[in-house]
Order: sequence, then structure tokens, then C-alpha cells
Amino acid sequence: MEYNQILEEIQLELTSYKGLGKLPDYIPELAQVDSDKFGCSIVTVEHKKHQIGDVLQKFSIQSISKVFTLAMALSFEGKDLWQRVGVEPSGSAFNSIVQLEYEKGIPRNPFINAGALVIADVLLSRINNPKAKLLEFINMLAGGSHIDINIDVYVSEKNTSAMNTSLAHMLKAYGNINNDINAVLDFYFFQCAIEMSCEELSFALLPFADHTTCFNYAGISLSASRVKRINAIMLTCGFYDESGEFSFKVGLPGKSGVGGGIVAVHPNKYSVAAWSPLLNEKGNSVMGMKALELLTTKTGLSVF
Ligand code: GLN
Repeated sequence: MEYNQILEEIQLELTSYKGLGKLPDYIPELAQVDSDKFGCSIVTVEHKKHQIGDVLQKFSIQSISKVFTLAMALSFEGKDLWQRVGVEPSGSAFNSIVQLEYEKGIPRNPFINAGALVIADVLLSRINNPKAKLLEFINMLAGGSHIDINIDVYVSEKNTSAMNTSLAHMLKAYGNINNDINAVLDFYFFQCAIEMSCEELSFALLPFADHTTCFNYAGISLSASRVKRINAIMLTCGFYDESGEFSFKVGLPGKSGVGGGIVAVHPNKYSVAAWSPLLNEKGNSVMGMKALELLTTKTGLSVF
């Protein structure tokens, strides 16, 4: 497959999308980034990389971190996890609180904020130093040691956290948070503030594309069956109330973050990370979504 040529065509076609969308100013620090960036990095299961644009620049991975924390929580909790969080698309915004009350504190899935807070609670209960363990796990996946948080983003989100704090209180009221609310929120803001480049993310997601790379790393195990389940949740819930649209247009399991990043995997072929900071009204990167749509259109391959 001529991925390099396809990436060049994509970059050219994306010029007409420049400037469309909005920076996420509800986390003030994220509104400071240069909105004119675009990068896309593909790594094939043969470990060949194909890249274009700003692929080495780090950005805030935000909700993409939920894929990594889910993998960790599943390792420690096994299928009991599904007593506390569902696997259904929510059809609602990532930080919606309405459904959580109707459904008595059981979040629809691990990728909406309420679900990610329950996952954070599991990690706090199971691991001595979950922040260090999360960074260690992600560095291992990406094959490096330089991945860390952006402290300004962490503080910025912590200072503007009314919505997530409300979700945490609602979860606690329904008995679905065992630890101190502030500790759970603190871990959640930490995971969202992790910074990675497109190159690092594409490598970190490769085990989710390649069933032969199952591993057991310091208690965190990713079997073929677990990869299947996490990919299924990415496909159905990875883009909140735009998950159907992403499936329809791109046709790959994927996950977005309000830092403008999007990751996706084509099982047994490649993992890909795209980044562009301007977001649509659902909180997903405008150019990132389009880049991946063009990728599966031009390669003529998706999971469908
Ligand atoms: N930290 C963000 C929040 O909780 C993550 C949301 C996202 O990336 N969709 O609002």
C-alpha cells in the first residue's frame, strides 16, 4: 500500500478545511495551542512508519488516555469491571450528567467522562502509585521513556473542573466511587494532561492493531480477547455522540481527545494517530476526522 503517497494527497485535500472548528476554551490552557497544526502517523504491523506533518510535536492526549486506563483496569478487575460500567454508546456529550442519574450511577461506557472516573477509581483501589504506573505503561507501549504530563494543562483543568466534579459526586452518591472524590478527579486530570506526539501514539496503539503482540507487562496484560473488546468499545463509543458518524465515514475503531488527537486501528494492518487542534461541536478534531475518512477511502479498506 502506498501510504506515503496517500498521506501527501490527504494533506493537500485538507487545506480546504484549515481554520474550521474551535479550540476547547473550557480548559483555558488548551486554547493556547497553535491551531494551525496537522500531523498524521501510521505504523504498520510490520513496524513500518509512514508520516506527514507535525508528527513529532507533543500535544495533550486528553480522552485518548481512556484507552490506556481501560486496558489497565481490565487487567486488574477482569470482567467484574462490567458491573460498574457498561459497554453501550451513550448518544450524549462526553461530560453529560443526565443519563447518569437515570441509570443510577452506572456510566454507559468507559470512554465518557463518568465511565473514565469509575475506571480511575478502580486504578486507585488496585495500584499503589497509579500515576507512575500509567506513565510507565504508556512509555512501554510507545517504546520510549519521555512521555509525561503537561503540568499547565493539568492545573488548568483542575481549576475549571465543575462539570467533572459534579459527575464524581453523582457517582459517589450512587456508591460507584470507593476512593476520595478529589483523589479520583486528580488522577483523571493527570491522565488527560499526558502529552504525546502522533508518532508516539501510533506506536502505543500498535498492540491494539496486532493480535500477535499480546503481552503481560507488570500485571497489565493485553490478550487477543481483551484487544477485541477494547476495539469494540472504541468502535461503538470512541467519539461520544459522534461515534456512529465516525464508524460510518471512517470504519475503524478509534478514540478522540479534546486536545485534537484521534487514534484508530485497522486490525492486522496498522495503527494511526492524527492531530489537529480545532474541534467540531462534538469535541472531535475536524481535520483529524477528515484525514482518517480520506485514509480509509483512499486505501479502500476499513473493518467493514
Ligand atoms: N479532560 C477532558 C474533560 O474531561 C477530556 C474530554 C475529551 O477529551 N473528550 O473534559
